[in-house]
Amino acid sequence: MKCEEMLRMLNDYVDGEIDPAICDQFESHLEDCNPCQIVVDTIRNTIKLYKDGEVFEMPLAFREKLHQTLRERWSKKIENP
Ligand SMILES: [Zn+2]
Repeated sequence: MKCEEMLRMLNDYVDGEIDPAICDQFESHLEDCNPCQIVVDTIRNTIKLYKDGEVFEMPLAFREKLHQTLRERWSKKIENP
């Protein structure tokens, strides 16, 4: 899997629409891709914060901001590997 595909999946992951079968590919990509690990950790921590606060539904504006952050991080990574 490429990092770009990973990014697309992460967008679905943020929306809570990820398929568990895809999650395996996701995990195996993470094993050898450090930049993706960092991004995924950030997302997981953010999602966890929401769950711990018992806010199960992330506000749409927040999700859009997260999507945008993801895209920015990836374009930086691609420009400066
Ligand atoms: Zn990657």
